[in-house]
Amino acid sequence: MIYLDHSATTPVDSRVFEAMTPYLTEHFGNASSIYRAGQDMRKVVEDAREKIATLLGARPKEVIFTSGGTESDNTAIKGVALNRGSGHIITSAIEHPAIMKVVGWLEEQGFTATYVPVGSDGLVDPDEVRKAIRPDTIIISIMHANNEIGVIQPIEEISAVAHEKEIPFHTDAVQTFGKIPIDVGKMGIDLLSLSAHKIYGPKGTGALYVKKGIKFDPFVHGGHQEWGKRGGTENVAGIAGLGRAAELAAAEMDADEKRVRKLRDKLENGLKQSISDIIFNGHRESRLYSLANVCVKYVEGEAMLLNLDFEDIAASSGSACTSGSLEPSHVLLAIGLPAEVAHGSLRFSLGRRNTEEDIDKVLEVLPPIVTKLREMSAFPRPSS
Ligand code: PLP
Repeated sequence: MIYLDHSATTPVDSRVFEAMTPYLTEHFGNASSIYRAGQDMRKVVEDAREKIATLLGARPKEVIFTSGGTESDNTAIKGVALNRGSGHIITSAIEHPAIMKVVGWLEEQGFTATYVPVGSDGLVDPDEVRKAIRPDTIIISIMHANNEIGVIQPIEEISAVAHEKEIPFHTDAVQTFGKIPIDVGKMGIDLLSLSAHKIYGPKGTGALYVKKGIKFDPFVHGGHQEWGKRGGTENVAGIAGLGRAAELAAAEMDADEKRVRKLRDKLENGLKQSISDIIFNGHRESRLYSLANVCVKYVEGEAMLLNLDFEDIAASSGSACTSGSLEPSHVLLAIGLPAEVAHGSLRFSLGRRNTEEDIDKVLEVLPPIVTKLREMSAFPRPSS
């Protein structure tokens, strides 16, 4: 299979798997136990915490392990909101459902919210955030990079706007952690969500950075693990995997970027030359080097995906979380694309194992697929 869906998930790196296996086999202690088999596990957890903190420019005690990006987002937003009891939340119109649905649920509980719009390039304007601030605003949450179009937001400027009014700033960095440098201090981030399975780590493991002094209620109540901030026996193998994945990401970030960016650019240039009526989505500079999102006019994204699948190529249309729904992507609608154009979207997200040959294969098979589908298409086409 040619796998071009790394924004949905990544394969577990064999070095990560190796780092995890001892804790799925012979070392099974509970990290909270006081005897040695437990304390050895405690060391594994704390070692991983230090690796994550290093990559974020944070202190280890500011990192809490969770079950993934979704739980981290829930903890950040609900944690601050429920701690305050009432108030107004600011987020953007292009967030992942792990933020959108949380804010929507909080609105049902009596909180209020503003979803700031984005421009046609997918960027949030910090002035729009400033305009949305009210005296009762309790948190501002703007994602670092979007999972569908890869646009990287001006986080430093937005967090500065939040801090003018002493409002905590959260960012969903699930798509950027381990891919591009993050420094929570320099970037003014108070809370940050990350996930292991986007960086060649295991699914079901993630972390939340919470700056010292930020008040929030736990989302998962239970034992006193994570200093009472997240109950539940630590997933030692998963945490060890996340730590190792973060360490590898840090060491290989520059080399990965160089190689993957070249492949992505080759893919985009090839698509531009071989397919007419194709739109390239997202800001051209401020975006992830690993992702290409296009809309092919007069064709259904799902039809292209199925045809690519017949060729053993895995890509996606919109986000993995919304595929299966007939609604066009809320992200593509938010950047101003008409619904019928948004329906023709394809997302290719590249990773460590992709090769030039993978890209050549896509460029060989996709143009004839588009021609075939356009011939069969019921989409209205210009009479020319
Ligand atoms: N936030 C973003 C931007 C994502 O892309 C994803 C996953 O696709 C999530 C949150 C959810 O993360 P997880 O799958 O670890 O729950």
